Amino acid sequence: MENCLFCKIIAGDIPSNKVYETEDVLAFRDIAPQAPVHILVIPKAHIASVGEINAENAAAAAKCLEAVAVIAKQEGLDSGFRVISNCGEDAGQTVHHLHFHILAGTKLSEKMV
Ligand code: 5GP
Ligand code: ZN
Repeated sequence: MENCLFCKIIAGDIPSNKVYETEDVLAFRDIAPQAPVHILVIPKAHIASVGEINAENAAAAAKCLEAVAVIAKQEGLDSGFRVISNCGEDAGQTVHHLHFHILAGTKLSEKMV
């Protein structure tokens, strides 16, 4: 997908700090971390957001969540973590390529979910 930041990261055109990669999924550290551990998990196939998941691409989204569980173990997030996916303007989505934020490494705010 042209002009998609995360597609450019997948292609290697923009560098990233990778933590996990499979044929279908890439995970890398967020450039502006909002917690001591802040990792983005994305499908290599371009899906704009959770709102665009359908029968054809659901497997790619599910593989991201499978990756979240592997990464949590790999990163030693034994005391917990939060998974967030912003969808659309009101949620503050800024990159329109499906991504799951993994936030961890501190006691996370109870004010938002
Ligand atoms: P959103 O606001 O769409 O839910 O999340 C987008 C995330 O992508 C933000 O947390 C932002 O810091 C991160 N981000 C934006 N540009 C880059 C980049 O070039 N590299 C990395 N690693 N993260 C980025
Ligand atoms: Zn993309």
